[in-house]
Amino acid sequence: MSDYQETLYTGYGQRFRMDKLLHEVRTEHQHLVIFENPRMGRVMALDGVIQTTEADEFIYHEMLTHVPILAHGLAKRVLIIGGGDGGMLREVCKHDGVEHITMVEIDGTVVEMCKEFLPNHSKGSFDDQRLNLVIDDGMRFVATCADKFDVIISDSTDPIGPGEVLFSENFYQACRRCLNDGGILVTQNGTPFMQLSEVQTTAGRMHGLFADWHFYMAAVPTYIGGSMTFAWGSTNSDYRKLPLDTLRQRFAGSGIVTRYYNPEIHIGAFALPQYVLQAINKPSND
Ligand code: SAM
Repeated sequence: MSDYQETLYTGYGQRFRMDKLLHEVRTEHQHLVIFENPRMGRVMALDGVIQTTEADEFIYHEMLTHVPILAHGLAKRVLIIGGGDGGMLREVCKHDGVEHITMVEIDGTVVEMCKEFLPNHSKGSFDDQRLNLVIDDGMRFVATCADKFDVIISDSTDPIGPGEVLFSENFYQACRRCLNDGGILVTQNGTPFMQLSEVQTTAGRMHGLFADWHFYMAAVPTYIGGSMTFAWGSTNSDYRKLPLDTLRQRFAGSGIVTRYYNPEIHIGAFALPQYVLQAINKPSND
């Protein structure tokens, strides 16, 4: 048995025992590994960075889908950028009110290998009739897309390699253009204790682009360094002022059973620690 050492940070990181290597390939875009770990279940890594594990993926996927979709209340058209493992798609598909889902994943091999080796992530959602799966660069898609969406979810890798462009000013501006009135953009935005500059940079790029922008947080154990942030950009600043009862009614009405998300967590997640608030209120515009 060998170990898998994450290489996202120098001098600090997490190590997984690899009980079984399920698949390893250098795709057209990145190095992909899927292996079995006794505590986290099946784990996928891309370019040395842990992407998702069977044990804790529910936290991340529930928070990046149910928060914007239940806040919106009438989301019919959803765009997922990235998300090749299918976990985000699985959670979006649980919303009966969603009529159309476009998913733009740059690496078709990630989709195929996750269908085969991480079937519990997508749980058959790649066969959902509402899905339009596009294998392309998410930046190119939003820059040229004529369609509009109610919720856009950027479920990307970290801003290294192919994922870097999904943290650019051009990307946020193009997403803003692709939103319907009342639309919401949410993105994976790293762990602020380790990647505070990423949060600051995103804040600087969201500022002035959306009627309301902020961040919300959740602790996902295998995204190391403490709670992670999700960026929030909305064309309607009322969404973050929704009363708890409204969220409770919408959540109950959705019939969705969750393991992490609930309306109280939804509201509480937008409360940020002082060091993160200070960082986003003096964003860097580099
Ligand atoms: N949960 C993970 C995280 O928080 O880091 C993300 C998981 S998901 C596997 C990330 C996906 O983004 C990968 O499948 C990767 O291929 C995809 N991706 C990276 N850059 C992309 C781009 N420019 N356009 C579309 N998809 C991209």
